[in-house]
Amino acid sequence: MADGHAEGCPRHLHFTHHQTYTRTLKHFDGTQSPISIWRVRCLECAVVFTILPSFVVRYKRYDTDALEKLATLLFITEDSYRMAGVSQALGMDTQQAGTWTALEATSPTAISPRALWGLVQWLGQLSPAQLNLALGVEPPTHIIEDEKHVTQSGEKAYVPIVYAPKEALIWWIDYIQSVSEDALQDSLERFKAISERLTHLTGATVDGWDPAQNALRAAFPGLTIEECHLHAMLKLGEHLATFKRQREKAGQPLLPEAEAQIRAAFLRVLEAPTPAAYQQALEELPTAFDSGPLDSRKQALIDKQALFQAWTTDEKLAVVTTALDQCMKFLNRKQENMQTAVKNPRGLCEHEIEPTSVV
Ligand SMILES: [Zn+2]
Repeated sequence: MADGHAEGCPRHLHFTHHQTYTRTLKHFDGTQSPISIWRVRCLECAVVFTILPSFVVRYKRYDTDALEKLATLLFITEDSYRMAGVSQALGMDTQQAGTWTALEATSPTAISPRALWGLVQWLGQLSPAQLNLALGVEPPTHIIEDEKHVTQSGEKAYVPIVYAPKEALIWWIDYIQSVSEDALQDSLERFKAISERLTHLTGATVDGWDPAQNALRAAFPGLTIEECHLHAMLKLGEHLATFKRQREKAGQPLLPEAEAQIRAAFLRVLEAPTPAAYQQALEELPTAFDSGPLDSRKQALIDKQALFQAWTTDEKLAVVTTALDQCMKFLNRKQENMQTAVKNPRGLCEHEIEPTSVV
């Protein structure tokens, strides 16, 4: 309610009761309840505001509990919802398989397919940021950002995602044709353009990819960046594999204990809680880090100390991007489902392909 006042209003947030009206709210099981809605008036500028309880979404008949359950229904369903709707509308699907049937079977208590279809379209047209804001969720200050490579109907696309680990919410998901610093920054600018409230990010956890770090810094000046410790360990693993092959060839295979020591010493640097401890752990790295191929990993620890230690000065920063990686696995499944080869009644394979929506 800090927004929406008349121009020049000092916005002291002093309100008085203006009006109360009753409306009905539908629940997931088809029942409905009357609820009282308050409208209040700004004592300074006389603009009237409607106060919606947290379980009411503006302009929607269903409560947030129903919306959540419906979204869950969509996500866990193995069918393609949109194609079910389209083929039924065109009279192509006489069997009405899957969820569609389940919904019709529970009619008239459950939501009608048409109403659900309306909700799907509404959800699909909103970006996650618009949806979260519409539901009254406070924008995040700390996020995880990553990009995912996808193939959609044979074409490559890149999906940048902004994720709030604390609330486990996606705030931004986009499709871009190339994954460059510029394209990524453009995408982040589109995210910021949704609302001024999304422009105040203060911390981000990312993998070690420089263009993403640069794009984030450009879009959010003053942003503190934490580089994911897990990705650093994975990178070490790659170089360690090369190192082991080299030692093998030279007839001096790396013993498992020595390998474990190398990993543990590297992790001690990453997890050091203070700059002094970081420095000391660096000095204690085994001699294997003094020459190739592991010397580049030691150099990375030296060059990126501020990035690996950002969490020590801002406890809200995630240390790893794992939460978003999990989220992406889910997106992968959905993506694959939507492009799965399905058997038609004659036993022939055909491809069911549809453009991806946010939902
Ligand atoms: Zn006012």
